[in-house]
Amino acid sequence: MLSGGLTSVAYLLAGVLFIRSLGGLSKQVTARAGNLAGMVGMLLAVLVTAATWWQSESHGAQGALLLVVAIAIGAVIGAVLARRVEMTGMPELVAILHSFVGLAAVLVGVSSYLTSQLEPGVAHTVHAVELWLGVAVGAVTFTGSVVAWAKLRGSLSGKPLLLPGRHGLNLVLALAISGLAVPFHNAAPPTGLSWLLVMAALAGLLGVHLVMAIGGADMPVVVSLLNSYSGWAAAASGFMLSNDLLIVTGALVGASGTILSIIMCRAMNRSIMNVVFGGFGAGGAAASPGSVTGEIQELSGAELSERLASAKQVIIVPGYGMAVARAQAAVNELVRLLTERGVSVRFAIHPVAGRLPGHMNVLLAEAGVPYDIVLEMEDINEDFSDTDVVLVIGANDIVNPSALDDPASPIFGMPVLEVWKSKLVVVFKRGMAAGYAGVDNPLFFHANCRMLFGDAGKSTTALVQAVRAASSS
Ligand code: NDP
Repeated sequence: MLSGGLTSVAYLLAGVLFIRSLGGLSKQVTARAGNLAGMVGMLLAVLVTAATWWQSESHGAQGALLLVVAIAIGAVIGAVLARRVEMTGMPELVAILHSFVGLAAVLVGVSSYLTSQLEPGVAHTVHAVELWLGVAVGAVTFTGSVVAWAKLRGSLSGKPLLLPGRHGLNLVLALAISGLAVPFHNAAPPTGLSWLLVMAALAGLLGVHLVMAIGGADMPVVVSLLNSYSGWAAAASGFMLSNDLLIVTGALVGASGTILSIIMCRAMNRSIMNVVFGGFGAGGAAASPGSVTGEIQELSGAELSERLASAKQVIIVPGYGMAVARAQAAVNELVRLLTERGVSVRFAIHPVAGRLPGHMNVLLAEAGVPYDIVLEMEDINEDFSDTDVVLVIGANDIVNPSALDDPASPIFGMPVLEVWKSKLVVVFKRGMAAGYAGVDNPLFFHANCRMLFGDAGKSTTALVQAVRAASSS
């Protein structure tokens, strides 16, 4: 039998493991241990909750069994999805998972209201506020995450939807959501259900509008913000279900998501308020793709191998295209060969490279690249002027100089990797397509820039062979 005290101790232990998990995930070397701590904490939480249900009068053995069956079905679906998802599809998966947390909070709120036995009084008011907030945050998270998912997978345009008077619309929706709480509170359950559902619909509309108004380049912050909302929605569910561990876990996710959003905003030189309320950087007469012109200079893999033979300092800038091309293993082999020849090779990681915070770090770690040569933007951006060759592998927006010198650009103000300051920049990409933000990149026309067209995986593999042949001759 599991006593109340033992349950609390187990929940406390699970909470500590979640905190250790977050701490571990903040560094590459401790990330695996962090993941393990999180998994053990979650297993403990699930087992203890099932055991508590088993003993409780309201749920009993049947309730506990239902819980275990539901978890087992969810676990199987989750495991299949996780095995199938490509690394490039992770952001969409994360966004849709956030939407489930939001939807769960709405459903928990509705069910909690329908089963509420409270008489009018302070306890009823407190419960009504918990319900209202939980359902509101859950509905915003649900629809906002579905829109983010559609934008990330390209089903919806990445361009911001800028309705006239959009801030007024947000304000009206927020006031309506708050105002409807009064008739809801005054109606005895279950007659207030219609107010709750109308409010959920309005909050859902707010979620759609808030995320529709956000431009492509700001999507990284939105993904982490929705992560934070999903945490707060889970914490609200914890209050509704009187489950302390869910409150603690939700608050941890909510707080860490908020901190990550602030860090990303700082890294992108954005104001969090502008990102939340949308449309930042969307104005101005940004050049449409294809409007920046000039002379493109190409370079073959064999020519690049020759240039690398005389290089002393090389920096590699990976981007989303490296993930698409799965070029990381070939890149690691290239690093190994160049290092053997005495070349200093380092990686420069932009905070929003790829499609997920830490996307590039994960890929490079998976390929076995040593952690100590992988540097964050602020630690390496000054070094480009002393660099002989920069290899830009499938990156575009994060090396776009218009972010620094074109106020009309949607990405103006975002710090970028200043690769053009090096002696030679070689860009590995398939053609002249724009990056995620949909803007042209004047870097490709710089005098010291050369294009190596083709799939980054194939180009890197060919380069590895050329470097290997040159080394053995
Ligand atoms: P970009 O999306 O700017 O550019 C990627 C480039 O890779 C494209 O221009 C494409 O050009 C090229 N590419 C695609 N496939 C291949 C391939 N197989 N081989 C070679 N090249 C390929 O990526 P960046 O990493 O530079 O920038 C990230 C962008 O994503 C930023 O705008 C960021 O705001 C946004 N974002 C980031 C998120 C995050 O959390 N990190 C989340 C959501 C959005 P071509 O087709 O010509 O080959």
